[in-house]
Amino acid sequence: MSALQGKTAIITGSTSGIGLGFAQGLASEGANVVMNGFGDAEEIEKHRQALEAHGVKAIYNGADMTKPAEIAALVAEAHETFGSVDIVVNNAGIQKVSPVEEFPDDKWDAIIAINLSSAFHTIKHSVPIMKQQGAGRIINLASVHGLVASPFKSAYVAAKHGIIGLTKTVALEVAEYGITCNAICPGYVETPLVAGQIADTAKARGMTEEEVKNEVMLKAQPTRQFITYEQLNGLMVYLCSDAGAGANGASFNIDGGWVAQ
Ligand code: NAD
Repeated sequence: MSALQGKTAIITGSTSGIGLGFAQGLASEGANVVMNGFGDAEEIEKHRQALEAHGVKAIYNGADMTKPAEIAALVAEAHETFGSVDIVVNNAGIQKVSPVEEFPDDKWDAIIAINLSSAFHTIKHSVPIMKQQGAGRIINLASVHGLVASPFKSAYVAAKHGIIGLTKTVALEVAEYGITCNAICPGYVETPLVAGQIADTAKARGMTEEEVKNEVMLKAQPTRQFITYEQLNGLMVYLCSDAGAGANGASFNIDGGWVAQ
């Protein structure tokens, strides 16, 4: 039997990039999936059907992670559809690269809402269900930028440091109920989010996009390789499985050695 057979996994921001990678990884281990995120309806439906090719059920809920009422409805739909909420992956995120003195107010607010506050809301609504189940797994997507900073990413770094604090606090509150809450801190993964960041960083630093990729991004990563979805899924499945029960309140960096420097 697959490691996560019959579990219900909500993955925010799973129409693209790392979240879509997690949806595929968890479905391949037998979990039913609640997809979320923006994008073209036909594309999303194709991804949903590809998840079901693993023999699981997948539904899509388009909740906007800046809207607490929609997040509450997302958790409720997952519970009503599948009868449990076993795994919550707080992955939705956006980025903006800009000097702090020019950082747009609305971008600051959006990054804090999507990258940090949305996790508070999913957790708030999932924890009562998980407590009743006596089991649950909460995994928050932080970043190496939850552990260290880079210039021009004030909102992102603040939100990611914040999510590590949220992870630790929730871990302490749920520890006695068979629930764990951990953070994953990836280095650079080649996703649509990073593609946008390459262009923005090039502008902010006056470099070409190729220079940003090789001299800024992979320079920080001693392996000189982007992190892959498969590498992240190995940790995700471990954290969600019975073997992961002892890991709680921890931040796991998968960063090619970045934070070791
Ligand atoms: P991505 O842009 O490919 O995907 C982001 C997802 O979030 C998409 O599905 C998008 O639709 C969704 N989203 C954005 N705003 C939303 C909103 N308001 N409501 C609902 N969904 C929304 O990005 P990614 O690179 O896959 O990033 C995923 C997560 O991983 C983010 O939290 C990011 O900070 C983190 N991360 C990424 C990297 C990297 O190198 N790519 C490194 C470390 C951490």
